[in-house]
Amino acid sequence: MRFPLALSAKIAGHIIKHKLRRTPKFAMVLQLEPLHTCNLTCTGCGRIREYSTSLKDMVPLEKCLAVAEECEAPMVSICGGEPLIYPKIEELINGILDQGRIVYICTNGMFMRKKMRDYLAAIYTPAQESTLKKLVEEKLVTDKEAEAIRNPKDAAAARAKNVIRPNSWMYWNVHVDGLEYTHDLIVEREGVFKECVEAIKMAKILGYQVATNTTVYRETDAQELEEMFKFFSWMGVDGHTISPGYDYDAAKKDMASRLGRDPKEFFLTRDMTRQKFAKILDWGKMFTIFGTPVYQEFLAGKRELTCTAWAIPTYNIRGWKAPCYLMTDGHYPGYQEMLTKVDWEKYGVVDGVARDPRCENCMVHCGYDPSGALGTSYKRGDNWKNFKYNFSAKPKPFAEGYKVNAYNGTSIGKGHLAEAKAAINSPRAAMNGAQSVFSRKEEPHSHSHEGEGGGCGTGDSTQRDELLAKIAEKKNEQS
Ligand code: SF4
Ligand code: SF4
Repeated sequence: MRFPLALSAKIAGHIIKHKLRRTPKFAMVLQLEPLHTCNLTCTGCGRIREYSTSLKDMVPLEKCLAVAEECEAPMVSICGGEPLIYPKIEELINGILDQGRIVYICTNGMFMRKKMRDYLAAIYTPAQESTLKKLVEEKLVTDKEAEAIRNPKDAAAARAKNVIRPNSWMYWNVHVDGLEYTHDLIVEREGVFKECVEAIKMAKILGYQVATNTTVYRETDAQELEEMFKFFSWMGVDGHTISPGYDYDAAKKDMASRLGRDPKEFFLTRDMTRQKFAKILDWGKMFTIFGTPVYQEFLAGKRELTCTAWAIPTYNIRGWKAPCYLMTDGHYPGYQEMLTKVDWEKYGVVDGVARDPRCENCMVHCGYDPSGALGTSYKRGDNWKNFKYNFSAKPKPFAEGYKVNAYNGTSIGKGHLAEAKAAINSPRAAMNGAQSVFSRKEEPHSHSHEGEGGGCGTGDSTQRDELLAKIAEKKNEQS
């Protein structure tokens, strides 16, 4: 089966229950942001910018658990910020699992190995020696770390620690936006891709379920995405979430008008999204792509859907965020209050017409993936299509994935960071070097690449655009 039976049954049961009760709006996935602090400062991250004044604030553990109960979503995606920084992340994950929900930990991967070492230290007995040996051989754990697992300084505390254990209801959901060069470029730090791969490798050895979480940008090369799926499929990754990046910020349109460019040069429009996702139905056959086939058809431009942002609500330090993960028109203290007070008819795109101009080019999963699952814009046969997809055989790992040239960046001396930084400091570099960094996938280029998409697979972006805009401005100054 493509997805574990118990999980598919949980989700199907939730939908059927609400259909029978004729609940007009209900939650499928809770996007829980216990904090917005992050160890990275990706230039594309809207979160660390929008909530920059409250980066130190956190949602108390009890409140996190209470909001999961409140909205009753069968799946909880713990995101942020970087959720592994949340001091009670173990208690949070285990608390939500205890509620009988499916948990996705949306992480940038940098602390995963540390958390898995904690797990090993908590369960260590000599029976773990062969696993530990393998981890050391694969250079996923150092000799010193292995020794600390065997003989922790405070053995009683290490063995008693609340840890993140492998669980068939839990996925590490690792943010990866491409192969090494691209991913490190997007997160603006060299070495992040390599760490993600090593963390995934370790997680698979220890029996965790792992998914990848990818945002597609205007400069994303679809062929590279396919290569990335092949690579991670070969590594035994259990599934992939993929969503188009999207920038709705009106300020970017101002920027476009100030620079005298066609906004289409700056934004991932619906047409562009459809081009990027032209092969998604094929990818869905080759790889375990999470998301309904109905949503995949929508991304590929084969049908329209109506936004159901209320089905993937976001809760964070300010409350329930409305109307969606991307746009903030308000925060509400309760999920039901948000459902009743927000005028949902004001949002989304219906039959190609945007009800809110900010929604014009949005096709993100948190707005439209549930539309397929819930049967909004239902077409005859959709339920069967979704059922067949979920319950059909899981695609086999891509046997030749080891041939993918995944380490095509800093590992082979082609790091990008110096070049990008040079571009904003040196007009000459902007002319000669950095422009090629951002345009190399779509040669030949006559324009720059400011603005679209976002961090952590969310489709949200702002700061990255500024870097790209600065590069373009420098280039303009020289032309
Ligand atoms: S269409 Fe997109 S931006 Fe608009 S409300 Fe829905 S999810 Fe949010
Ligand atoms: S995109 Fe994700 S990893 Fe990057 S700064 Fe934002 S929350 Fe952190």
